[in-house]
Amino acid sequence: MDWLELEKKYFMPVFKRFPVVLVGGKGPWVWDEQGRKYLDFLGGWAVNSLGHCHPAVVEALAKQAGELIHTSNQVYTIPQLELARLLVENSSLDQVFFCNGGAEANEGAVKLARKYGRLYRQGAYEVISALNSFHGRTLAMLAATGQVKFQEPFAPLPEGFLNVEYNNIEALKAATTRKTCAVLLEPIQGEGGVIIPGKDYFHQVREWCDKEGLLLILDEVQTGVGRTGTLFAYQQLGIEPDILTLAKGLGSGVPIGAILAKRRASVFSPGDHGSTFGGNPLVCSAAYATLRFILENRVLENVKWVGSYLRDKLMELKSEFGFIREVRGRGLLLAMEFEGEISEAVVQSCLHQGLLLNPVRPNAVRLMPPLIIGEAEVDQALGILQKVLTELQV
Ligand SMILES: *Cc1c(COP(=O)(O)O)cnc(C)c1O
Repeated sequence: MDWLELEKKYFMPVFKRFPVVLVGGKGPWVWDEQGRKYLDFLGGWAVNSLGHCHPAVVEALAKQAGELIHTSNQVYTIPQLELARLLVENSSLDQVFFCNGGAEANEGAVKLARKYGRLYRQGAYEVISALNSFHGRTLAMLAATGQVKFQEPFAPLPEGFLNVEYNNIEALKAATTRKTCAVLLEPIQGEGGVIIPGKDYFHQVREWCDKEGLLLILDEVQTGVGRTGTLFAYQQLGIEPDILTLAKGLGSGVPIGAILAKRRASVFSPGDHGSTFGGNPLVCSAAYATLRFILENRVLENVKWVGSYLRDKLMELKSEFGFIREVRGRGLLLAMEFEGEISEAVVQSCLHQGLLLNPVRPNAVRLMPPLIIGEAEVDQALGILQKVLTELQV
């Protein structure tokens, strides 16, 4: 069967896919239909937090699938409530809502902020987000995503969003008006190229939000659930958000998103929001297993240790290859930036050598291996990367 032809014929052509058909995976490894193995530093776009088919997740899913898959939110189900408790007990937020992904979580967060504005800020509704951000593909989240290439083809976009320069407190202050109800930011701009703001930025943002009575929404869809070495990236910023959104790594591969809010920002009333699939027993059992595994098995320590090991080794590559401009990131969310627009070439060569990477920018690759990756696999990946960079150099 020619699967690539099938895709071309039957699937909307939106994805730039690798010419690879994956059929299996275990831990940080995946393999294709011809039996070729790859080290997965793409991680399903930072989704496969425990790697592929982790026994804790597989067991939880299998058990739950045999008991109760879906019910609707017209009734109570136990995995949903256990997961909600675990998230709240391990964060600085008080209440949770479950949905199906990142864009949907952010949409819900903006709805919360608008309701808050209506109740406490004379109908303020505007949300300020950052240029070069990424918040998802729905129409409203395209308006929040400060990148022209995503927005332009789909205008007109919903009103009530303003994009200002990231890491620039003055820009945020200048854009704030009596219509502003919230600020929506990523702790690290992931899709934007793993952009890390200055040390003071989030302190300044928090201070400004407090002074002006704005809600601070942190989009941790990519940085959350251990990716940066702490359960949430905000824990490294020394501030707390009013609203936090999660998705990608939360379920180790099952589609789940979450909105968490401080009590004062948790302003939905019955009927204000909802979801048919959101938080069903099946996905919540996988997320609960993922989170418990992370918390009970020193996974965050592993992210910190292996993350800094990988970073150090990438820095060594940087001193070896003059065309590597920068290595940046936190934990296991890392990027390597080049002098020229060579990331496609690097990624294609790595693919042929058995390493999956993401060309996050024309001049930068992003590395997002599973949180459980070990030093030996990192060494293997680095061996491939070094070989590829050497070949590119000549
Ligand atoms: C991926 C991502 C989203 C969108 O998530 P989807 O599940 O694809 O809707 C939103 N925000 C950030 C920061 C992301 O990285």
